[in-house]
Amino acid sequence: MSYLDDLYQEIILDHSKKPRNFKELSDANHKADGYNPLCGDKVSVYLKLEDGFVEDISFMGSGCAISTASASLMTQTLKGKSLGEIETLFKNFHNLVTGKSSASTELGKLAVFHGVSQFPVRVKCATLVWHTLQAAIKSKPETVSTE
Ligand code: ZN
Repeated sequence: MSYLDDLYQEIILDHSKKPRNFKELSDANHKADGYNPLCGDKVSVYLKLEDGFVEDISFMGSGCAISTASASLMTQTLKGKSLGEIETLFKNFHNLVTGKSSASTELGKLAVFHGVSQFPVRVKCATLVWHTLQAAIKSKPETVSTE
């Protein structure tokens, strides 16, 4: 294993043990649940969209190290991003984990998942949270009321 592989492995382990943004978002206006029966990964994505930008995002769920780390790194990456930017990132991420292209610079930390392309059965673990996010974006906005 190269130095870079070690580093990537370390980041994935760190995020799977201490997932970031791992909570319910009380003022989320979009939400969706995802399930990957191949591995048993479950994830719920909470999204607060304002004028086409991600104001806040979080997730809950249980699954393997890859799916948890992917959700953690995705939520970290997408805060403040526009829907257009998310679409591009998802395309790049999908190409990366399926081995269609190497990491582009805009992927940032998400590049740690490049090794997944060598394990086709793991691709769904890495992309589950992204598909769930797409469903959350398309879901009808829930009216959040504090009254
Ligand atoms: Zn999994």
